Amino acid sequence: MNTKPRIVVLGAGYAGMMTTKKLMKNLSPEEAEIVLVNKHNYHYQTTWLHELAAGTINQNQVRIMIRDIINPNRVRLIYDTVVKIDKDDSRVILENSELTYDYLVVCLGYETNTFGIKGMNEHAFFIEDFDSCRLIREHIEYQFAKYNNDPDADESSLNILVGGGGFTGIEFIGELVEKVPKLCKKYDIDRGKVKVINVEAAPSILPNFDKDLVTYAKKSLQERGAHIMEDTRINECTQEGFIVGENNELIKAGTIVWTGGVTGNSILGTSGFELTKGKVMVHGDLRAPGYDNIFILGDCAWVMNKQENRPYPPTAQAAMQHATTCGNNIRALIHNEPLEEFVFSDKGTVASLGVTDGMGAILGDKKLYGKSAAAMKKIVDDRYLFLLGGPILLLKKGKVRPF
Ligand code: FAD
Ligand code: NAD
Repeated sequence: MNTKPRIVVLGAGYAGMMTTKKLMKNLSPEEAEIVLVNKHNYHYQTTWLHELAAGTINQNQVRIMIRDIINPNRVRLIYDTVVKIDKDDSRVILENSELTYDYLVVCLGYETNTFGIKGMNEHAFFIEDFDSCRLIREHIEYQFAKYNNDPDADESSLNILVGGGGFTGIEFIGELVEKVPKLCKKYDIDRGKVKVINVEAAPSILPNFDKDLVTYAKKSLQERGAHIMEDTRINECTQEGFIVGENNELIKAGTIVWTGGVTGNSILGTSGFELTKGKVMVHGDLRAPGYDNIFILGDCAWVMNKQENRPYPPTAQAAMQHATTCGNNIRALIHNEPLEEFVFSDKGTVASLGVTDGMGAILGDKKLYGKSAAAMKKIVDDRYLFLLGGPILLLKKGKVRPF
C-alpha cells in the first residue's frame, strides 16, 4: 500500500515550476509523491507575453517543454485542465480525470479583469496566455496584409488600440512602436497611416510609479510615434473601438487590446474559496484560511505587506519567492516541524520599452534608463531561466547572447 503523502501542484507557471523544483530538492522520492498538473505540456514566460503579442519574439523562445525541466520519472506530469478543487474531499476535478491530494499547491495564475466594461469580453483581445497572444500577433499582421487588398479599406483598420497604461499596456506599446515600422515596410504601407494608441484612466500612465521614470517612458514612447491618452476612461468597447471620456468619443481601431487589470484564476471562486477582489488572502505561511493542507501562490494569492498594510503586487518575482517558502513549509509539515513566514525581498522593478529601451528602479532607489535598463531586464529574465533550467536552458532560451 502506498502511504507516501501526495503533493499536487496546480499550474506550471512561475510559482508552479519553482515549487515543483523546490519540492524535488527538499524531499526524497521515498518521502512524498509529487504531481504537477498543467493545461499544456509547456511552460511559458508570462513576462514575455507582450513581446509574443506584438510579434517581436519567436514563439518558441517564449515556451519551454515541461519535461525538459522536470524529470517525469520523479514527478508525475499531468497535462489537463483543472475544473474545480473539492477542498472538503481533498480532490481535484480535471477535465479528463480526478486526483486526490494530501497537500495542494494552487498556482493557476491570473485572468484578465474587464471590470464589467460593456463589450470588452466580446470585442477586445487580452494578453492572458500563450494562445491569446499568438492570436493578437496574427490579427495585427492580418490587418496589415489585408489593407492593400481592399480598395475600400478604412485607414483606422491599421490602428492598434491598447486599453490600460499599467506595466503590461506600456511594455506592449514599447514593442508595438518597434514592430509597426517593420510591418509597414513589409506590406508597403505608409507609417503615417498607422496609429498606436494607449488609453489610461488615471492622470498618468503607470499610476503610483516613480515620476521621473514615468516621464522617461512616456517621452520615449511618444518620440517613437505612440499616442498616449491619459485621464481618459474607457466606458465601452465596440467592434469599432473604445468609447471614451465624458463625451463618449469613439476611437477606432482594427486591433483592440485590453490590458486594464488582472484578477486571480476563476477556479478559486468556483471552488468556493473566500475571495478578496478575486484572490485568496493567504496566511503568512501562504496557506489558505481554514485549510491547513492548501497553499495558494503567485497571482492567485494576496500576500500582505504588513509594514504598509496592503498586499504585495502580483509579480513573477513574488511568485518565485512564494515557491521557496511553500517548498520549505510542505517539507516542514511532513517532518512535523514549525512553518516559516513569507518575507518578500524586493529586487526592484524594471520595464522594457521595446528591445533596446527600458526604465526601472533596482537596489532600493537606483534608477535605470534606456539601454542599461533594457539590459538589466534581460539579465533578470535570464536569471529566472538559469534558476529554472541551469546553463543549458539559459543558452537555449536566454536573451543575453554571449557570442
Ligand atoms: P503564471 O505564470 O501565469 O502561470 C499560471 C499557469 O497555470 C500557466 O501555466 C497556465 O497555463 C496554468 N493554468 C491556468 N489555468 C489552468 C487550469 N484551469 N488548468 C491547468 N492549468 C492552468 N512580473 C515581474 O516580476 N516582472 C516582469 O517583468 C513582469 N512582466 C510581465 C509582463 C506581462 C506582459 C505580464 C502579463 C505580466 C508580467 N509580470 C511580471 C507579472 C507576472 O508575469 C505574474 O505575476 C506571474 O506570471 C505570476 O505567476 P503565476 O505562477 O502565479 O502564474
Ligand atoms: P494594472 O492593474 O497594473 O494596470 C491596469 C491599468 O489600466 C491601470 O493603470 C488602470 O488605471 C487602467 N485602467 C483600468 N480601468 C480603466 C478604464 N476603464 N479605462 C482606462 N484605463 C483603465 O495591470 P497590468 O498592467 O496588467 O499589471 C498586472 C500586474 O503585473 C501588476 O502587478 C504589474 O506590476 C505586473 N507587471 C509587471 C511588469 C514588470 O515588472 N515589468 C510588467 C507587466 C506586468
